[in-house]
Amino acid sequence: MRTNPEPVKIAVIGTGNVGATTAYALLLSGLAAEIVLLDVNRTKAEGEAMDLDHALPFSHPARVWAGDYADCAGAAITIIAAGTNQRPGENRLDLAKHNATIFRDIIPQVVRYATDGILLIATDPVDVLTYASWKLSGFPPNRVIGSGTILDTARFRYLIGQHFRIDPQSVHGYIIGEHGDSEVPVWSLANIAGVGMPEFCQHEGLTYDDQAMEAIFRQTRDAGNEIIRRKGATYYAVATGMVRIVEAILRDENALLTVSSLAAHYGINEVCLSLPTKVNRNGADHILQLPLNQEELSGLVKSAESVKAAIRALNLDASHETAA
Ligand code: NAD
Repeated sequence: MRTNPEPVKIAVIGTGNVGATTAYALLLSGLAAEIVLLDVNRTKAEGEAMDLDHALPFSHPARVWAGDYADCAGAAITIIAAGTNQRPGENRLDLAKHNATIFRDIIPQVVRYATDGILLIATDPVDVLTYASWKLSGFPPNRVIGSGTILDTARFRYLIGQHFRIDPQSVHGYIIGEHGDSEVPVWSLANIAGVGMPEFCQHEGLTYDDQAMEAIFRQTRDAGNEIIRRKGATYYAVATGMVRIVEAILRDENALLTVSSLAAHYGINEVCLSLPTKVNRNGADHILQLPLNQEELSGLVKSAESVKAAIRALNLDASHETAA
């Protein structure tokens, strides 16, 4: 049985689409006693706080307000969703540089006050910025988590579930590596009711269709762009995923989630990426080593290299010294 956690304070930095929706999902979850909202656009944070406050009679007791960095003191978790989305004509490296500049401002201010908490990053490119947050904060790696491929994994499970007409909660499979173009589907371990996909098809009298599976992965990987093309941003699913991570931390669940954290295994190091990770009150407590096949392993190594290249371009060691 899940135990109810002690009521805690959660800070949300950046109250745009993702930050505000995460605060809303958090309010509905009842997990937080206090939600403090910060944005460089103070008026926006105030408006979001007012709007959320007016939902209190219908939801859970909580205190929601627009604050300053000093109000992050005592926050169990600080969620960071500040920064921009990829703009037309901008590549991922430009985005990394732009949002890293914002993080050089935010992270030192957060850690001055939220000294014992966990940093939970949503801003893209999330693996690069999770690594940057680890460097800039000086926190131990388990206390710096990115949403990583939690969203991609959810999309993957959803699409497999749609294909086979099975509830996605009964579909198990992981997207690992970068949250982005180089992410890797772990087909060799994907299963329904513990049965691998080809065997599942065999037992159910279905044809296992490689091309359909490849299409499922393409749709998974490209889903963000497809949604942005239609409505300009994505936020409901990621916000729900963020609250799932918060819940796993506060309830000390030992849940296995594909969050991004400082890499372990397969000779990969000095980079943040996603593998199934035990999430509990310590944060990203332990990273599982999966028995990957050769194709998955080389995909993961390539994915790590792609994130590393973006990290190198940020010259974080120099900025870390400046921030210290
Ligand atoms: P948005 O433009 O709606 O919101 C960003 C907010 O950050 C704005 O309110 C802005 O004022 C604020 N901000 C900018 N600089 C700041 C600073 N120095 N201090 C405090 N606040 C600051 O963008 P969005 O749609 O909410 O997306 C936010 C980020 O989340 C983007 O990088 C986006 O790509 C990313 N995202 C990640 C995932 C994921 O799976 N990790 C999914 C969707 C979006």
